[in-house]
Amino acid sequence: MKADPYEVLGVSRQASDQDIKKAFRKLARELHPDVNTEDPHAEERFKEAAEAYEILSDAERRSVYDRYGHDGLSSSGFHSTFQGFGSFADIFDAFFGGGDPFGSGRGRQGAVQGGDVAVQAEVNLLDAARGTTVQVEYERVGMCEACKGNGAKPGTPIDTCGRCDGTGELRTVARTAFGQIVRRQVCDVCMGEGKTAREPCEDCHGRGRKAVRTQLEVNVPAGIADDQRIRLAGHGHAGERGGPAGDLYVLVRVRPDERFLREGNDLITVVDVPAPAAALGTTVTVPTLDGDEEVEVEPGTQPGAVITLKGRGMPALRRGRGGDQIVVVNVVIPRNLSAEQRDLLERLSGTLDARNLEAANDEGLFAKVKRAFR
Ligand SMILES: [Zn+2]
Ligand SMILES: [Zn+2]
Repeated sequence: MKADPYEVLGVSRQASDQDIKKAFRKLARELHPDVNTEDPHAEERFKEAAEAYEILSDAERRSVYDRYGHDGLSSSGFHSTFQGFGSFADIFDAFFGGGDPFGSGRGRQGAVQGGDVAVQAEVNLLDAARGTTVQVEYERVGMCEACKGNGAKPGTPIDTCGRCDGTGELRTVARTAFGQIVRRQVCDVCMGEGKTAREPCEDCHGRGRKAVRTQLEVNVPAGIADDQRIRLAGHGHAGERGGPAGDLYVLVRVRPDERFLREGNDLITVVDVPAPAAALGTTVTVPTLDGDEEVEVEPGTQPGAVITLKGRGMPALRRGRGGDQIVVVNVVIPRNLSAEQRDLLERLSGTLDARNLEAANDEGLFAKVKRAFR
């Protein structure tokens, strides 16, 4: 049974991002092994807190958890980053991006996760209904190809840093209110790499990283709506000093299709039917996602009548029901009548009685108008 992340952090379900961050920092401070030597479960509790924070600090994950709990998270592919971690210090490093959780460090130690990248992709409604792949192109910070990321001009030697003996960090012991704390700072000579190039790579000026143009095929799932984002973990900017890459967010724009109005998963179409045909009954051609289709219009169909094509709307993106196609009948009253047409209509009009004009079992126009204005 997995613990409720809100309970673990001791925050309410309405807690703001700021509250969650605060609660986690406070807990991390208490459980840090350099501070907490009495509690044998400190490490386990910290892992639990880190997992809770991982869930609640990400808006997407948090809303999945709120709706479907831990099961929802695991079925959407979320696994805590902290399960596989060996040492406690590693967790801290990964978590705070190498920054000092006590807020006193300069925040550049150890591994740093790369930043996220956002791109936009446009698909048409049909592709949104079927699912598709799109090609996105973007610029990200990646490894320098020339030096393979080591920052040295190819063919030149790389020395172990003399200042930190290749560890990339300088350790200092500080006395604080929490007791003795070993503070690790990034080596100021090798900038944490543990190695120094005698001659820096010319392509990347010794940084080992540079902007690269990246092309990627992205799967757009069937049922996606306009303005939804797809997250591709690890496709953002490269991390530093062994840190993980950031994520790529693809904002999907679904191009409007003038034949359909999308209402959630339902698609609405309007078809024109001449008044005599609506009275007699007819078939009309209706555009659907599967192409044009003949749809039957019953005799006596009224303006605004709705014909539902079950299951012919957009598919459901995750769980839940796919939509229907809703065909709204627009009864068109003939205009610009010829003398003969006028005559025919007048003769017809003269024969109509209450039986022809009552609003069948359909709700009358008055009821519709009332509903519209409520
Ligand atoms: Zn380079
Ligand atoms: Zn060094």
